[in-house]
Amino acid sequence: MLLISSFVRALPKVQLHCHLEGTVRAETFRELAQLRGVESSRARGPLDATYAFATFGEFLLTFAEVCRTLQEPEDYARIARDYADDAAAQNVRYAEIFISPSVWTFFRADLDVLETVAAIRQALDECRARTGLEVALICDLTRNFGVERALETARLAVRLAEAGLGVVGVGLGGDEARFPAALYREPFAYARAHGIHRVAHAGEAAGAQSVRDAVDILGAERIGHGVRALEDAALVSDLARRKITLEICPTSNHLTGAAPRATPHPLLALDAAGVRCVIDADDPALFSTTLNAEYALVSSWLSEAALLRFARNAVEATFLPPERKAILFEELAGYVPETYGALRRTN
Ligand SMILES: [Zn+2]
Repeated sequence: MLLISSFVRALPKVQLHCHLEGTVRAETFRELAQLRGVESSRARGPLDATYAFATFGEFLLTFAEVCRTLQEPEDYARIARDYADDAAAQNVRYAEIFISPSVWTFFRADLDVLETVAAIRQALDECRARTGLEVALICDLTRNFGVERALETARLAVRLAEAGLGVVGVGLGGDEARFPAALYREPFAYARAHGIHRVAHAGEAAGAQSVRDAVDILGAERIGHGVRALEDAALVSDLARRKITLEICPTSNHLTGAAPRATPHPLLALDAAGVRCVIDADDPALFSTTLNAEYALVSSWLSEAALLRFARNAVEATFLPPERKAILFEELAGYVPETYGALRRTN
């Protein structure tokens, strides 16, 4: 068990790579399965084995299994409330998190997505009133459903953005090896033409070319993971020069095999090469981690100065306007040493 220092706890953080459906606690998953009458072998046996998986493919199926138990807008509101309270308790000050509506409707075709996102928004706004934490949403297009479905989801994302529900962009998750980035040129072009942001998972289950394609073909402004960019030195230089952010989720990479635990995490080389990296938790409940635990893990490899750099990188990489970024930068600059000092004195 990693010790989470007061420095990490007090650090004001921005969260940019977290899937709402991947934050569902094992207890909640089991309660929802029972409540909604969903038969799942994962809802039986030891609680800590609920989300056990051995391969990346099995992980994707586990994620889908969680989505299968989410059936009503109130289920989504519940997990959004839990997410936001957990994030606020970790001193997350602002977040852009993923939702996967095409997975929701795969399991429940008649789910009213607009009503569901409105329920999520209400839960997040109530948390904002309690804690000050603001959470924006990114609609994942989910590679596995193919390009037509991705285009529908991109259109949906634009409608949700226009409806004032705090959707700021589209993402691209799912099976990267079998569904390459180039397939999704049109949905990403649609998102761009309609003024919402674009991010994509890449360089996780496929190599450096996948990262290059996400940036060059899809115009991705941030890359989820991107750890396999290291296979191509020219790409690493390009990412650094173009200030493309990599959202690095170390425990996720260890557990899915994107980056073996036995060797130094690619974050170290990418950061040293000047690539803008941020730290995140991906699917914290499924990976038995938290954002603070990920910062703590990274602090076992790098200095606190590096953690501050990653926290600042995350502010820079948000889709907030400059004046909002300035407030977060100020909080980071002013708040940390003072709070850290105070905590150190009392500990
Ligand atoms: Zn992810």
